[in-house]
Amino acid sequence: MWILAPWLIIIIITIIATILSHPKIKGLIGERRVRKQLRRLPEENYKILNDITLKEKKGTSQIDHMVISPYGIFVIETKNYKGWIHGREDSECWVQTFYKHKTKFRNPIKQNWSHIYAIKENLPEYKDLPYYPVIVFAGKGKLKNLDVTTDVISPDALFETIMRHRGPRKLNDNEIGEIFTTLTGASMKDKQTKRNHVSRIKWNVKMKKMKERALICPQCGEQLIRRIDKSGEFYGCSNFPRCQYKTKLHLESK
Ligand SMILES: [Zn+2]
Repeated sequence: MWILAPWLIIIIITIIATILSHPKIKGLIGERRVRKQLRRLPEENYKILNDITLKEKKGTSQIDHMVISPYGIFVIETKNYKGWIHGREDSECWVQTFYKHKTKFRNPIKQNWSHIYAIKENLPEYKDLPYYPVIVFAGKGKLKNLDVTTDVISPDALFETIMRHRGPRKLNDNEIGEIFTTLTGASMKDKQTKRNHVSRIKWNVKMKKMKERALICPQCGEQLIRRIDKSGEFYGCSNFPRCQYKTKLHLESK
């Protein structure tokens, strides 16, 4: 057993390393680091929105994080890349170099500006609001030869970066709350959820009526039978008194 132990340790380490290096797991770890930093912001002044999907001219805009503050709106795009990251403020693509292998990806600063336009379209009353784009590289990517004026940072610098941008107050508490509600309401994800919810209610009402017409109790599935009491004729569940279901519908007439 003691001869096998070192091998066992190597195998376990390899398994753990493989799990941790999986893009999804790495994404989650990076995401946690970002959220941890956002939680440090003083709650009374900074409202956080995570994973918002807004409509824009060409399709939708998925925004990782937004922080609504008295000084403006921070729009945070997180990326998980390893290797070396090269890029310039206004080039179309950035390059990831990993073991001499180069991969191009869309300039996250430009991507983030398209998110900001989508937010602006949803906030027509707040045209002159300052926006602060922030790009967070949450993976092991080393930022090399970056020629940028936008904040391109690691998760650990997020709190300080947001706290640094404290100009004159542009929004009061009510306005911050209003923007928060507007953007939450405009998020496609929420809209889809709402739509599903409404259609489920409609479906339930329809099913209830169909069952009643077939003289099946919608509540327990037993038969509905015609009854008469002081208030008149109705259909009640044959499972009475265990099931109290009754309906005033004039079933025969339909
Ligand atoms: Zn019943």
